[in-house]
Amino acid sequence: MPDTKYMDKSAAAPGIHSSSKVSKSAVIEMGLVALSELGADHICKVCIANSGSCCNGCRHLLDGVGCQKRNTSCTAWLCGFHKYLLFEVGQLEEWNEFWNQVPGQDFREDFTPEQIRIEKKLRRQQQTMDHLGEALAADLQELARSHIAIGLILTLREKLDKNIDLLMNGDNDPKKKVRIKRKIKVLTSDFQRFHYLLAKYHEQQADETAPNH
Ligand code: SF4
Ligand code: SF4
Repeated sequence: MPDTKYMDKSAAAPGIHSSSKVSKSAVIEMGLVALSELGADHICKVCIANSGSCCNGCRHLLDGVGCQKRNTSCTAWLCGFHKYLLFEVGQLEEWNEFWNQVPGQDFREDFTPEQIRIEKKLRRQQQTMDHLGEALAADLQELARSHIAIGLILTLREKLDKNIDLLMNGDNDPKKKVRIKRKIKVLTSDFQRFHYLLAKYHEQQADETAPNH
C-alpha cells in the first residue's frame, strides 16, 4: 500500500525461480516486481501529489525516506487504482490467489512466517507493460488538473475499489455484473491514454493466442 512502494520498485527486479518454499522477503519482492512491471509506481506519484498517500499517518513511514517496515500486508493490499489496473489486464484474480496463500497479514504489519509454502506464483510479464500504468497516471494527472473539485481523484479511487470488489466478490447474477461493468466503464471514461494502450495490448494478446500465430 504505499506511497513509498514506488521508491523501491526500480530496484526491485531480481529473478525469482520456481520453488514451493519461499522466504517472506521474496514474496514481498514478487509483489513489488509484479506491480512495477505494470507501471503502478507512476500512479502512486500522481496519487501522492494529490494528497492520496495510503501511508499517511503510518508510524513506519520516515519522511523523505519511505517505508521502514515493508510487510506482506501492505504489499498485497491494492488501492482502487492498482486494483483497476490489474483488473483490466486480467491479472487481479491471480494477484488475489497469490496473496491468499500468504498467512499473517494484518493492518500495516504482518505476522507472516519467514518461510512460506507457495503453490501459485505471480507471473513475470513477457512484454513491457509499464507504459499502461504510466498512461493511467497521465490520465489521472490530467483529470486532477482539469477539475477544480478537491478530492476528485480520491473519490474516484474509492468508487473503483468498491465496484471492482463488488464485481469480483459479489453474487453471480449476470445482470448485476453487467451493471457494475458499465459503471466501471463510466467511472474510467476519462482514461483515454490508458484505454488506447489497453486496447492495443488486448489486440496483441489476441494475435498471440490466435491458432495460426
Ligand atoms: S493509494 Fe494507491 S496509488 Fe495512492 S499511493 Fe497508495 S498505492 Fe499508490
Ligand atoms: S507499513 Fe506503513 S509506511 Fe510501510 S507501506 Fe505500509 S502503510 Fe506504508
